[in-house]
Amino acid sequence: MTVASPGPEHHFVHRIGWLRAAVLGANDGIVSTASLIVGVAAASPDRSIILIAGVAGLVAGAMSMAAGEYVSVSSQYDTEQADLDKERQALETAPEAELEELAQIYAMRGVEIGLARQVATQLMEHDSLAAHARDELGISETVGTRPVQAALTSAATFSVGAILPLAALALVPVSHVIPVVSIASLVSLALLGAISALVGGAGVVKAATRVTLWGALAMAVTAGIGALFGTVI
Ligand SMILES: [Zn+2]
Repeated sequence: MTVASPGPEHHFVHRIGWLRAAVLGANDGIVSTASLIVGVAAASPDRSIILIAGVAGLVAGAMSMAAGEYVSVSSQYDTEQADLDKERQALETAPEAELEELAQIYAMRGVEIGLARQVATQLMEHDSLAAHARDELGISETVGTRPVQAALTSAATFSVGAILPLAALALVPVSHVIPVVSIASLVSLALLGAISALVGGAGVVKAATRVTLWGALAMAVTAGIGALFGTVI
C-alpha cells in the first residue's frame, strides 16, 4: 500500500449497487434471449417460429425478473422492518441490556471495554436505534423500500438486453441466424462487461472474458439441445 497521494482515494463500492443490477438485467436479457433464438434456430429453420420464441422469451424473462425483484425487495423490506421493530421494543424495555450489548459488539471488534461502553453510550444518546441497526443488525440504510421501482428497473434492463439478439435476428437471413446472433450477443456481452468494469473500477479484460464465456456456454448448450430435438422430432 502506498501513501504517496494525499486526499481521499476513490471508492467504487457505492456505485456498484444500481450498476450491478442494471448490468445483470441486461446480461440476463442477452444470454437467455440469444440462447432461446439459437436453440430454436438449431431445431427448426423457420423464421416466424424463431421470432415468436425470441419475443416470448423477452416478455417471459422481463415479467419473471420483475416478479422476482418485487418479491425479493419486499421480503427484504419486511425482514428489515420486523428486525427494527424488535430492536425498538428492546431499546424501550431494556435500555441497560441494550447498551451493554452494543458495548460488547465494539469490544469484540477490538475496542477496550471501558472505551466501548463510552462509545456505545454516546452513540445511543445520538440515535440509539440507528446505532443498533447499523452495528448489531448490519442495516446501514434501508434499501428495500421501493419494490415497484426495483421491479420496473429489472424488467426494463432485461428488455434492453433481450432486444439486441432480437434485432440481430431481424436483420439477417434465416440461414445466418445462429452465427450472427451468437457473435452479436457475445460482442454485446463483452462490451457490457467491459463498461461495467470501467465504471466499477475493476479489471476490464477479466470482467469481459468472464461474462462472454458464460454467454458462449449458455448458447452452445441450448444450440446443442435444439439440434438434438430438431433431429429427433
Ligand atoms: Zn440491540
